[in-house]
Amino acid sequence: MSPLSLLKHASGECVPNFVGGEFVPATGGEWLEDLDPARDIELARIPRSNSSDVEAAVRAAEAARRGSWGKSSNAERADLLDAVAGTIESRLEEFAHLESLDTGKPISLARSVDIPRAVANFRFFAGAVRHQSTDCHSMQSALNYTLRKPVGTFGLITPWNLPLYLLSWKTAPALAMGNCVVAKPSELTPLTASALAEIFAEIDAPAGCFNLVHGLGAEVGQSIVEHPQIAGISFTGGTSTGKQVAATAAPMFKKLSLELGGKNPTIVFADCDFDETIEGVTRASFANQGQVCLCGSRLLIERSIYDRFVSAFVERVGALHPGDPQDDKTNFGALISTGHRDKVEGYAQLAIEEGGEVLLGGKRPELTGDLAAGAFYSPTVIAGLSPDSRCATEEIFGPIVTLHPFDTEAEAIEIANGVRYGLAASVWTKDLKRAHRVSSEVESGMVWVNTWLLRDLRVPFGGMKDSGVGREGGRHSLEFFSESRNICIQL
Ligand code: NAP
Repeated sequence: MSPLSLLKHASGECVPNFVGGEFVPATGGEWLEDLDPARDIELARIPRSNSSDVEAAVRAAEAARRGSWGKSSNAERADLLDAVAGTIESRLEEFAHLESLDTGKPISLARSVDIPRAVANFRFFAGAVRHQSTDCHSMQSALNYTLRKPVGTFGLITPWNLPLYLLSWKTAPALAMGNCVVAKPSELTPLTASALAEIFAEIDAPAGCFNLVHGLGAEVGQSIVEHPQIAGISFTGGTSTGKQVAATAAPMFKKLSLELGGKNPTIVFADCDFDETIEGVTRASFANQGQVCLCGSRLLIERSIYDRFVSAFVERVGALHPGDPQDDKTNFGALISTGHRDKVEGYAQLAIEEGGEVLLGGKRPELTGDLAAGAFYSPTVIAGLSPDSRCATEEIFGPIVTLHPFDTEAEAIEIANGVRYGLAASVWTKDLKRAHRVSSEVESGMVWVNTWLLRDLRVPFGGMKDSGVGREGGRHSLEFFSESRNICIQL
């Protein structure tokens, strides 16, 4: 097996689009720089595609739908997804290397979470569609049965924080249900999406079922959303971009799934398992440098243990050391870009202006050599802010956690619900009744109790309020990526 040719792009070559089973440059001949955020140097160039490239990808997808792909069985599509999963798995190390280079995340994280989850996504939806059943409702004089038909061509638009993980989360169910895909990854992290295209080419997937168009959101993303033959959009990204996507897609009656931003509460009660909670909350706060939509960026702590908890938390977080993402021992990598680091830094400054006290971090780490130019920011813990301050209510999407004491369960719930977002929450307590009560009252699409980011791919994933519309995962994905058709037969 040849190594992924993407690895050679670390020398600045241009990564192509993947349209109709062929690797092609953008029609306009323009390109964008893809940077290594840990060093601020060019990794590769990607096509700055435009609406003509999107048009070509949609044409290829529609041709695939009319061809053999459109006639494929569930079992054939499941076999294809299994082949994709197996091939990624056999190259896990190469994929992890690319993902870490492109995002700045520690390679240990890419190796243990991002790439294995992508493999699991393909494998899970292969199994799901293989075992899929549909409804049958019998009446005295008639029989109803429901088919689930492909919707058409889906636009899949994904962010930079979990590039392959989220692309596979959408691609696998979309293909499983017989749709075609035109995907646009974030222009900041294009490499593993292109590596995935290489896998589709290598296993001889039907041309046009999976198409990849690189470029800018306002150009390629917008063209995908606007295209009349794109029947549905699955979008993961920021809330303001999601609003724009919805404004275009909703009046065109496209199927629409929006997975958006969050400002997630982590609620720690005095009766928690102290040591396990410190570990769990540290991970929930700073995994991937706080750049996971599910990260708990507001830490609510019952006042009776506040001082003890904060001092143990600060000590534990202090063991996270920003370093070279490619080093196996690094437990804290770079942020996605120097621009994003500046935004995070701006929030740390704002926190001080809002009366906050920086207990840890609040600065760039002092790294030497080629890492000195990287987009690093130290894990930062801030106390003393009002729960309705800007820093405690706006999504920062970086390594900043704000701490808030509370006295009663009701107060904790009020603070937790006092933001426009409602994506994820975690509750840390040994009291089972309290865990049920709080989980039921917190306005959130997902609640973890005494854990965080424990994922079962069957469960509904998504947020409420400004965190999104719709759910993906398990049968929710199979339903979103298909059209139900009821057939009623008079007996
Ligand atoms: P973003 O700026 O909203 O971008 C997301 C994707 O949309 C990118 O591919 C972007 O392309 C594209 N895009 C931008 N403008 C567009 C437009 N007008 N039409 C169509 N597509 C457009 O978000 P991000 O900064 O990449 O990611 C961080 C955000 O994602 C955070 O808010 C985070 O909470 C959220 N997120 C949510 C979940 C979830 O499951 N709820 C998971 C992960 C991340 P460009 O990169 O080229 O601009």
